[in-house]
Amino acid sequence: MTISECNFAGKKAIVRVDFNVPLQDGKITDDTRIRGALPTLKHILEQGGALIIMSHMGKPKGKVKPELSLGQIKDAVAEALGAPVAFAPDCAKAQEAAAALKPGEVLLLENLRYYPEEEGKPVGVEKGTPEYDEAKKEMKERQKEFAKTLASYADLYVMDAFGTAHRKHASTAVIADYFDADHKMLGFLMEKEVKAVDAVLSDIKRPFIAIMGGSKVSSKIGIIENLLGKVDKLILCGGMTYTFAKAHGGEIGNSIVELDKLDVALGVEELAKKNNVELVMAPDAVAADAFANDANTQVCPANAIPEGWEGLDAGPEAQKLFADAIKGCKTILWNGPAGVFEFDNFTAGSRAIGEAIAEATANGAFSLIGGGDSVACVTKFGLTDKVSYISTGGGALLEAIEGKVLPGIAAIKG
Ligand code: AMP
Repeated sequence: MTISECNFAGKKAIVRVDFNVPLQDGKITDDTRIRGALPTLKHILEQGGALIIMSHMGKPKGKVKPELSLGQIKDAVAEALGAPVAFAPDCAKAQEAAAALKPGEVLLLENLRYYPEEEGKPVGVEKGTPEYDEAKKEMKERQKEFAKTLASYADLYVMDAFGTAHRKHASTAVIADYFDADHKMLGFLMEKEVKAVDAVLSDIKRPFIAIMGGSKVSSKIGIIENLLGKVDKLILCGGMTYTFAKAHGGEIGNSIVELDKLDVALGVEELAKKNNVELVMAPDAVAADAFANDANTQVCPANAIPEGWEGLDAGPEAQKLFADAIKGCKTILWNGPAGVFEFDNFTAGSRAIGEAIAEATANGAFSLIGGGDSVACVTKFGLTDKVSYISTGGGALLEAIEGKVLPGIAAIKG
């Protein structure tokens, strides 16, 4: 069943969205994820359906944490939907509130991750012990019960949380077992995200470049190795620059580094060579004498950072190199900033990348931006309308690009 085929009139739909929005003092600082879910939510209400909205927020790890309550965003959701929203303060005890819902009404459930059953990971038991295996088995059973409870609230299940579609959680995948094929579907946001990934993978216009930044090599090694089998060029930037520099015996001062990943870095270089992929890395850095926006700075080679200094951004030579590598490309994937872009004085590397992507897009390239930080960069530089597609997923997007079947999609499509 697709969402367009479904008739929601008089039906209750439970919709998994990703409302894990950034908050500061209880106020939403970026509502991209709420806006992303609106097409699905409004469609259901306009057809005369009732909505039960569920999401996680942050990582409460199975405990009630008031600072991660979805109650904080209830009014913002109501305003975005243009409809009043009722709140269920316990997501596993919302039977009555759900049963009372009338067509056009909305119920928002409290943070799903207040219950460890949502993620299905045992708590308080150490991994690798026999107790863990036993606890895991038990937790999987509890997860099924939790998913069944959520499912009992509604006639239809809609999965529209791309940001968590790579997780096999109660609300993103297990719940789908309690609906038959005619009563579960992907939402519009999921459909759009899947189409964007397909656009990159099924019809790659070359040259294809990926730009991978961020703080660490270790968290992205899987996707980096995978991309080396797909792309023509790969820019590796941000904090991981210094693990590569160190692997070649460079001086990196206080720069961020993963000393246990030096061989991994060398392995990446070897694989790039073997696959004929042009690997582009920063020859120079903007180094700072403190991890602060107002630190003193100097430009130096990325492999000759003086003691007491740390590379916080790509240098001017690197910026030009990155921009030149991007400009002639026809397919572009960007995940992770080239520097500590949160500090205004260290945004130049990421800005150079963003602007080059915008220029390539204007010349006909398909550009896909994913991951909270790269999306924040594009927004910060005013380039939102100048790239082809901005994904709401980070990890999910990368796993989809790796060719993995996301559990949240498999649960619906089989
Ligand atoms: P990740 O979560 O691995 O995608 O990394 C994103 C973070 O990497 C951002 O918060 C950036 O501030 C940070 N980052 C980028 N470049 C550097 C750098 N040279 N040193 C320290 N952190 C960095």
